[in-house]
Amino acid sequence: MNIDLNPTPLSSLQDRKPTRTVRIGTVRIGRGHPIAVQSMCATRTQDVAATAAQAEMLREAGAAVIRIAVDSEADAQALADIRQRTTAPLTVDLQENYRLVVRVAPLVQKVRYNPGHLYHHQKEVPWQDKVRFIAEAAARHGCALRVGVNCGSIDPALQEKFPPHDKLSPMLESALLHCELLDRLGFDQYCVSLKDSDPAKVVEINRRFSAQRPDVPLHLGVTEAGMPPEGILKTRTALLPLLAEGIGDTIRVSLTLPNPRKHEEVTAGLEIVRDAAAGRITAEPWTPGRLNIISCPSCSRVENGAFVELAEQVREMTRYAAHADVTIAVMGCRVNGPGETDSADLGLWCGPRYVNLKRGSETLGSFAYDEILPRLKQELDAILAHRAAEGDARPAG
Ligand code: SF4
Repeated sequence: MNIDLNPTPLSSLQDRKPTRTVRIGTVRIGRGHPIAVQSMCATRTQDVAATAAQAEMLREAGAAVIRIAVDSEADAQALADIRQRTTAPLTVDLQENYRLVVRVAPLVQKVRYNPGHLYHHQKEVPWQDKVRFIAEAAARHGCALRVGVNCGSIDPALQEKFPPHDKLSPMLESALLHCELLDRLGFDQYCVSLKDSDPAKVVEINRRFSAQRPDVPLHLGVTEAGMPPEGILKTRTALLPLLAEGIGDTIRVSLTLPNPRKHEEVTAGLEIVRDAAAGRITAEPWTPGRLNIISCPSCSRVENGAFVELAEQVREMTRYAAHADVTIAVMGCRVNGPGETDSADLGLWCGPRYVNLKRGSETLGSFAYDEILPRLKQELDAILAHRAAEGDARPAG
């Protein structure tokens, strides 16, 4: 693989926001440091050989930091073995089980937690106590943190404060509250991410956050960007304007890819950073108003390896409706699948044997992997017919 791994000249640009330095092992992010390209393993964490091999593949492709999902004691044990097999700076993605931080912090250079997931376990414990627990473990082991806010898992208490259609304000408030708390705890080795699947929203919310907290390093990305080339285009559409404004210190391109091609995330990320440094912009940015397939990049929690293939089949099957303003979400697991399909017109989230089909937030049923496509087509056709009847359907392309 012939990839330029030299630090990007973007680090020397003077108009980067004045973000502080955060140490992720030997990697530094923040103003004055190169934009670090990150990636994430999509293998099962407990498959130590496969995960270590994928981490190495991503490192060789140029990933500065590589994330691994840890949901259980067994995952944490596997992480200890993976740690022995790769020199890559590692970060852990904590889900609901925040107490695992004490097991993983000694092993990795950074931990990501999602404020919207701190509500599921130990509901009687205030979120502030959980963050304190996480921050103390991170501080003990010289580990950085990422407050990773995601549009599909917004803190429910904050969402209630805003109209249901306003997803950005509760995300922003969540991030700001967590920053304030970490500041009060005296923990400054953290960065923030605010991810949405809509590039325009990613631009807006990161601008809003950066205006209020220009000191906090930002990890940029479009969540569930989908398959290449559309997923790359969406990510470029969001990230290039932000980087050009000096916003963003580390990035990830989240792509739905089969495991042997996972390094393409890194290649796409490095190219974004190079293009931002050179002032090159995307000639044809992603624009809404066409069929939009959002699909997750997959991770250790994928419940059936057929998920990636299914996403590709959905794209092929729906080509006849390419110009319809319809969003279809395809998600790989039950952890984030149900929540992150809610705002799509049609959603699929994949279990071990069945695929769950949704219309908006309504569940329509579970279908075998070989039955889901005709059923999805039926629903898509119904939407197109309904819109045609209302006179607002776009011509099929
Ligand atoms: S939806 Fe599930 S499988 Fe997909 S990236 Fe998110 S947690 Fe992983």
